Amino acid sequence: MLPIQLLPPRLANQIAAGEVVERPASVVKELLENSLDAGATRIELDIERGGHKRIRLRDNGCGIEKNELELALSRHATSKIATLNDLERILSLGFRGEALASISSVSRLTLTSKPGAQREAWQASCEGRDMTVTVTPAAHPDGSTIDVADLFYNTPARRKFLRAEKTEFQHIEEVIKRVALSHPQVSFSLKHNGKSVRRYTAVAADKHHQRIAQVVGQKFIDNATHVALDYQGMAIEAWLGNENVTRSSNDCQYSFVNNRAMRDKLIMHAIRQAYESAYGYHEQPSFVVYLTVDPAQVDVNVHPAKHEVRFQQSRLVHDFIVKTVSDALAPPTANNAEGAVQ
Ligand code: ADP
Ligand code: MG
Repeated sequence: MLPIQLLPPRLANQIAAGEVVERPASVVKELLENSLDAGATRIELDIERGGHKRIRLRDNGCGIEKNELELALSRHATSKIATLNDLERILSLGFRGEALASISSVSRLTLTSKPGAQREAWQASCEGRDMTVTVTPAAHPDGSTIDVADLFYNTPARRKFLRAEKTEFQHIEEVIKRVALSHPQVSFSLKHNGKSVRRYTAVAADKHHQRIAQVVGQKFIDNATHVALDYQGMAIEAWLGNENVTRSSNDCQYSFVNNRAMRDKLIMHAIRQAYESAYGYHEQPSFVVYLTVDPAQVDVNVHPAKHEVRFQQSRLVHDFIVKTVSDALAPPTANNAEGAVQ
């Protein structure tokens, strides 16, 4: 064994990156979330070679001031929470202050930004084992561009796990779909190797179904049952594919908690159970389900990549989903009405 020593910053960040930056799509997810937290209404993504070569995101969000650029690239530096209290009521997508530090430790990252109130734009990048940040003048409109080149160039063990460009790009597309589904008022464009691949124009807040149509197709919306319901401080809005629209025709199982894309076991289980009670055995339901709960009732600090949440009243949430979804799929008649959620 070696004597105990503090790891140099880059190595410490690379270790942390192991949890957050699994593949190009995880970089895309973190960058998209940052732009949304910055209030962007227009986000452009340029991907080269499945993200192996380059991931570049440009947004029109609030930008980062010159004197905060260095901090933005540092680990445990965030503008989103300040106290433990804030952590118990997370309203933003990010809060760990780790993404940019992690990503920049395993790629060549530059961050260019101009807040509306600042006259010039500045660009930051970091180098070496101490991740020394250099800031230079740049040209950029209001907003930010984050350029991530040569992902995992310095971590061969990780690079080995990268899949074919096409596969990695499919993962990126899936991430952008999820983010687009939960932020209909933001426009997104996605290019791959210079070619435009997807474009989601912004839709009005009350036209959510139009965004769903853009992302998963008009056919799904045309055949879906729509339900919106509030109960004890929780709310569901859902589009539920009927028996004829199954996943085989269009891979479509999307669930969101407070506008955060989730593959939560509890939610999946509840939806599956509801389909079973409405239709009998149903292998592949299609659905887009948005659940809104009091942020104090849900812990999002469960997993570094925030794929999971923990509900304080998980039974109540589960039963609320089962009841709402099964009633929407097979509305209770006077004879079989079961009454309110227990
Ligand atoms: P977190 O999102 O958890 O705060 P990040 O490492 O992802 O941590 O980002 C660090 C900080 O950099 C953010 O808190 C935010 O202040 C700033 N930032 C990152 N991306 C953007 C962006 N696109 N626009 C404005 N500010 C940003
Ligand atoms: Mg972030």
